[in-house]
Amino acid sequence: MSGTDRITVAIPAKGRLHTGALGLLEAAGFQPETWSERALSLRCTGAPVDALLVRAADIPEYVQDGAVDCGITGADLVLERGADVTEMLRLGFGSCSLQAAVPEESAIVALEELDGHRVATVFPQLTSSLLAERNVFVHICEVSGSVEIAPRIGLADGIVDLVSSGGTLRTNGLRSLGTLLESEAVLVAGKESACSLDGLVTALRSVVEARNSRYLMFNLPAEALDRVAEILPTPGSPSVVPLRSSDHVAVHALVPAGEVWELLPKLQALGASSILLNPVERVLA
Ligand code: AMP
Repeated sequence: MSGTDRITVAIPAKGRLHTGALGLLEAAGFQPETWSERALSLRCTGAPVDALLVRAADIPEYVQDGAVDCGITGADLVLERGADVTEMLRLGFGSCSLQAAVPEESAIVALEELDGHRVATVFPQLTSSLLAERNVFVHICEVSGSVEIAPRIGLADGIVDLVSSGGTLRTNGLRSLGTLLESEAVLVAGKESACSLDGLVTALRSVVEARNSRYLMFNLPAEALDRVAEILPTPGSPSVVPLRSSDHVAVHALVPAGEVWELLPKLQALGASSILLNPVERVLA
């Protein structure tokens, strides 16, 4: 559909990245007109955007070949395919790491000791190249799934696979030797995309940034303002609003969501009261 004035974005039809990709499009205002489990293409309302539902692993090639203007898939899949595409945005979901692991009882204790051994993986290119960067050269056993079983059935001495919590490794009696790559969902575009993607990228970025932010409001004795301003992890200056009681002010600030839990007790210690924390829908810097 490239070449028309509608933007075609490929998203995973199912699997781990499907819900996150669809949810992100919806949060950015691109709501599918009709939704059915079996639909292969969704026309979005609110903007000239069509979502094409395909396999996550095929998206790098679809984007590279210009079959779609852009796509949402895992950074690991883009690298594995060696696709000639441009990463436009990290999307903040589908986080995982590509790790090497061996059976608990293995004598191998460091990544470097995998040299010369057999490694099972569904990521043959990435595994070879990331290990070679560390001067570790292995025999790759390419499998298409259930990698964790490979050492137990004697197919390999270790594995390289994606890990989120590490629970699957533990359940299968495997011990991590370390991380080769950190991955998450990304928006990628073709090098010669026929459409301008500025509007789509801005809309998606505004949601990704909003999800990482909270809007914080609190009252404060005016004399504590300088000390509070020093500890607020706010990009730019916080807003300070006068209150009817002249010795107090209200402070409004955008703060990183991940820092809130540490920040609130410090604010309280400095005299902050009536603290309100709100989610944010969009952030446009
Ligand atoms: P799918 O095979 O369609 O379920 O998608 C697999 C993609 O989901 C991977 O390539 C990663 O980008 C992402 N992902 C996120 N967490 C994990 C995980 N724990 N295991 C495998 N893939 C993951």
